[in-house]
Amino acid sequence: MEPFDLAVVGGGAAGFMTAITAAENGVKRIIILEGTSKLMEKVRISGGGRCNVTNATWIPNELIENYPRGGIQLLESFNRFAAGDVYDWFEKKGLKLKIEEDLRVFPVSNSSSDVIDCLKKSALSKNVEILTKFFVKEISKTDNIFNIFSLKKAKVASKNIILSTGGNPSGYKLAQNFGHNIVKPVPSLFTFSTKEPNLDECRGVSIKGVDIEIELNNKNFQNRGDLLITHWGFSGPAVLKLSSIAARELYSQKYKFNLIIKWSALSYEELKEKVKYLRLNKGKVNLINSRPIPLLTKRLWIFLLNKIGIDKEKKWADLLADEREKMINILKKDKYIISGKGPFGEEFVTSGGIKINEVDFKSMESLICPGLFFSGEVLDVDGITGGFNFQHCWTSGWIAGMAVSKLKH
Ligand SMILES: Cc1cc2nc3c(=O)[nH]c(=O)nc-3n(C[C@H](O)[C@H](O)[C@H](O)COP(=O)(O)OP(=O)(O)OC[C@H]3O[C@@H](n4cnc5c(N)ncnc54)[C@H](O)[C@@H]3O)c2cc1C
Repeated sequence: MEPFDLAVVGGGAAGFMTAITAAENGVKRIIILEGTSKLMEKVRISGGGRCNVTNATWIPNELIENYPRGGIQLLESFNRFAAGDVYDWFEKKGLKLKIEEDLRVFPVSNSSSDVIDCLKKSALSKNVEILTKFFVKEISKTDNIFNIFSLKKAKVASKNIILSTGGNPSGYKLAQNFGHNIVKPVPSLFTFSTKEPNLDECRGVSIKGVDIEIELNNKNFQNRGDLLITHWGFSGPAVLKLSSIAARELYSQKYKFNLIIKWSALSYEELKEKVKYLRLNKGKVNLINSRPIPLLTKRLWIFLLNKIGIDKEKKWADLLADEREKMINILKKDKYIISGKGPFGEEFVTSGGIKINEVDFKSMESLICPGLFFSGEVLDVDGITGGFNFQHCWTSGWIAGMAVSKLKH
C-alpha cells in the first residue's frame, strides 16, 4: 500500500488542527491515529464542558505573556496565526463563538461537542482518514518513510509524521527514539491543599482581586487575582496562575511551601487609620458586625479573628494594642503552610515536553529528524488558564499543517 503523505499521531485538538490545515492546503493522503476509542476527549471535558477555545487577546506581544514557558518562541508563530485567526477559522466553519467579560472565548452554544463536531466534520469533508484504538508503540524510519506500529503490531507507513500526543509519556518516548530530549514533564495549573485548622468553614468564599505570594527558600512568586477557598485549601484563577508560573519550582519542593495572602492592598499606616476610625466611630459595635475591609466576607472575617485569637464578640473600643497589631498584620500578610496539590489530581496541563530548541518553530519540524513534526502539548510550551493552551494547539497545528502542505508529495 502506498504510504500516506502525513500520519498524525494523536486525535486531540492539535492533531486535528494539523490534519485539517494540511488537507485544506492540498495534502491528499492523511491519517489520524488515535490510541483510544475516543477523539478529542480533552476538548470534550475542557472549560467545564463548554470548551474555552481561545482568549480574545488579539495582539501577539500580549498573547505571549500568558505562557510561562515557550512564550518568546511563540511570538513568531502568533504573528502568523493568533487568537483572532482562530476566532475567524472556527466562525468560517460555522461554529459561532462569543467573548466573555474576562476575554475567554467559548462556543455560543456553551457546548464543547460543537467544537468537536466542527473539527471532525472539517477533517472528514477533506477525506482525512481516522483510525481509533491505534496506540502507536514504535516508529522506525527507512528510506525516508516512517513505519508506524501499533501496540497490536498493525503497521501504517507515511512520508511525514506529526506527534500530537499531548502529555502522554508514549509521545516523549517516540521522540526520544529519534534523538530528541525531553524537559521533565511536571503538572501545571493545580490548586493548593492546606491543613490549616477551621479553614473549611470558609469553603465557597470567593474574594476578588487579592495579592498572593509563594514563599520558597530562595525565590518568591506573586500574582493578583480572584481567590476561592475550598474544603481542601485554595483555588480560583489567582492560584491556578501562580501554580503555572511556579510549576517547576513547586515540583522540586514537593509542593510544600508557604502561601502568603494579602487580604488588603492598603499600607500598614492606612490600615492603622482604618482600625482607629472604627474604634472611635463604631466603638460599641462588635468586631463581627463591622469589617475593616468590605472585601472580606463575614465567614472569612470570623475565621481570621479566630486565627489570631481575638473574640469576635469583642467591641471595637475594647480592642487592645497588641490585638490591633495582630489584626493589621494578618490583613497585610496571612500565612498558610501548603502541604501539596489539590486532592483530585486535577492539574490541567503538563509543563515540560519536547525541548523547543530542537524544533523549527517556522514549520514545527524536528531539527533532528526531517519529516518529523510536533504540535500541541507534547512540546515544552504551556499557558495559564483562559484558553491559552488550546490557542497553542491551534497555532502549532496550523503551522505544522501549512509546512507539510509546502513539501513535495
Ligand atoms: C479538565 C481540563 C480542562 C481543560 N480546559 C481547557 C480550556 O477550557 N481551554 C484551554 O485552552 N485548555 C484547557 N485544557 C488544556 C487542554 O485540554 C490541553 O492543552 C489540550 O487538550 C492539549 O491538546 P493536544 O492535542 O496537544 O493533546 P491531547 O488533547 O492530550 O490529545 C492527545 C491525543 O493523543 C492520543 N495519544 C497519546 N499517545 C498516543 C499514542 N502513542 N498513540 C496514539 N494516540 C496517542 C491521546 O489519547 C489523545 O487523544 C484543559 C485540560 C483539562 C485536563
